[in-house]
Amino acid sequence: MPRIDRRTFLKAAGASATALVASSSLPAVSETEKGLIAVSTPLATFPYGDVQLHEGPMKRQFDENHERFLHLDEDRLLKVFRQVAGLPAPGEDMGGWYDLTGFSLERNSFRGFIAGHSFGQYVSALARAYAVTGSEETRSKINRLVKGYGETLDPKARFFVDYRLPAYTYDKLSCGLIDAHEYAQDPMAMEIHERLTRAIGAYLPEKALSRAEQRSRPHKDTAYTWDETYTLPENLFLAYQRSGKPLYLEMAKKYLEDDTYFNPLAEGNNVLPFEHAYSHVNAFSSAMQAYITLGSEKHLRAARNGFEMLEKTQSFATGGWGPNEAFGEPGTGQLGDSLALTHASFETPCGAYGHFKITRYLLRVTKDAHYGDSMERVLYNTILGAWPIQPDGTSFYYSDYADTGRKVWYGQKWPCCSGTFPQLAADYHVSIYLRSHDGIYVNLFTPSSVRWSDRGANLALTQVTQYPFDNKIELHISASQPHEQVVYIRIPAWAAPSPTVMINGRQIQETVEPGTFAALRRSWNDGDRIQIELPMPLRLEAVDVNHPNLVALLQGPLVLMAVAEKQPAFDAQSLLRARPPANAAGDWSAISADGTPVTMRPFLSIDKESYSAYVKVSG
Ligand SMILES: [Zn+2]
Repeated sequence: MPRIDRRTFLKAAGASATALVASSSLPAVSETEKGLIAVSTPLATFPYGDVQLHEGPMKRQFDENHERFLHLDEDRLLKVFRQVAGLPAPGEDMGGWYDLTGFSLERNSFRGFIAGHSFGQYVSALARAYAVTGSEETRSKINRLVKGYGETLDPKARFFVDYRLPAYTYDKLSCGLIDAHEYAQDPMAMEIHERLTRAIGAYLPEKALSRAEQRSRPHKDTAYTWDETYTLPENLFLAYQRSGKPLYLEMAKKYLEDDTYFNPLAEGNNVLPFEHAYSHVNAFSSAMQAYITLGSEKHLRAARNGFEMLEKTQSFATGGWGPNEAFGEPGTGQLGDSLALTHASFETPCGAYGHFKITRYLLRVTKDAHYGDSMERVLYNTILGAWPIQPDGTSFYYSDYADTGRKVWYGQKWPCCSGTFPQLAADYHVSIYLRSHDGIYVNLFTPSSVRWSDRGANLALTQVTQYPFDNKIELHISASQPHEQVVYIRIPAWAAPSPTVMINGRQIQETVEPGTFAALRRSWNDGDRIQIELPMPLRLEAVDVNHPNLVALLQGPLVLMAVAEKQPAFDAQSLLRARPPANAAGDWSAISADGTPVTMRPFLSIDKESYSAYVKVSG
């Protein structure tokens, strides 16, 4: 396992909340002390390796992705870069989005579609997986990939001549290289990153361009028409924090999409409509890094407001958003209308990855349980139902919420979603628990454990649960000595009316209020047990106000979808009397308006059967 420096935790214990805490995402020596960031967030992520997933769907997805990319042929991954560099380029083509030839949208003036676009994401995912597992096989693969990529990089980064989306691919390479450095201690990654960054400017516009600005620019071909310059700052700010080099800071500031996006969002103007969905949610994380690195309150406001607009005006009951990858106009009924118009309801691995990042940032800053509620909706209703990436790059891409929907594979191999899926599966480890100066936040309920140290005590917490198929969660504490800490437990907003928390069999005196973190301050002893029981009433959520009779049935965080060849209709009250499964991971059952029983099943349990995420109700 990678060794983690715990002195910052010790330091934090005796210091003010602002002096908090390093982890692998806020590196070992406090960046505020080094003057590299302006704001230490009240909550920090744990180092990847301090959290373990136990048997369950999250662990399965992490293991599958780690395995898939650990065994993906390196010559194939490096081939396009070697081809352009004129180096020997053995190995088969990857196929799909990844190659220099063979796929083209409207024009042929570009090399392939987005050759090599996801290389950086695969390196990033492997680096995070190494931080989780300590697998030397994984680390040496990262080292070979980084070295191999560096050999293809010339001082002018000629790979990007006539390249369709230079910012898009640079952003992913940037992420892969800084993660290889940060999580796998790769010796060459930051030097390569700097060479690439110095060269890439020649291929980028002078500032972050909105889609409208890109379209309005006269250009000999389609360059700049839909590149994503506005997502660059997040990784550039991180590169600055990890290297201390002003080059990255200046470039990060330059590509903040202030004039057309963050300024209006900060002022409460909803400028989401018609923007590309995933990349503009991803841009919220750039705003959060502007807040953390520069102390810019405006950017924090922009991210908070933007996320609220996303939830209130663009989101399905599953937590997914952006049918056909675009935001619609609030109040027009566009979400409900989309159910009859498209099967491309939510770009799932990418959207979930972006959603996890922004909710994690906002949770770290605000300690607001609502962001955890939002994260788990997306977890259980979208990404955990994604099919695993196949050895040939065939990938799951869109979730389908159409009147009658199906899971399908995406038509092109190695798309964007093959890059974000393994990154997100590794990020499960940094999303379940967060660290505060006085204890630990339990954000997600899933079989797992976490360890930490505080003022000379070694502590661990293990979760045992079948959640969300059961409403009970047990937390087992181990402690090297009796030790005072606060264990904060997220009580979801839907867990009404009376969630209960017991410690060692006795109900606690503290308030346990849905929609907040319950705070349990104790001197904890080895073997202490916390038992949580969350009420999970069935409830209905309309797709939007214009379609009050198109509803999703929910229990706890789960949307229960109707397994049917044709969208069924229900009486609302009878749908709310759906019968729970007899066994842990079984099906719910409801009686439709015409009296036939309908199986109701959560997205993560659906395979090839057709289903309706939303059903019609009367009454
Ligand atoms: Zn995608």
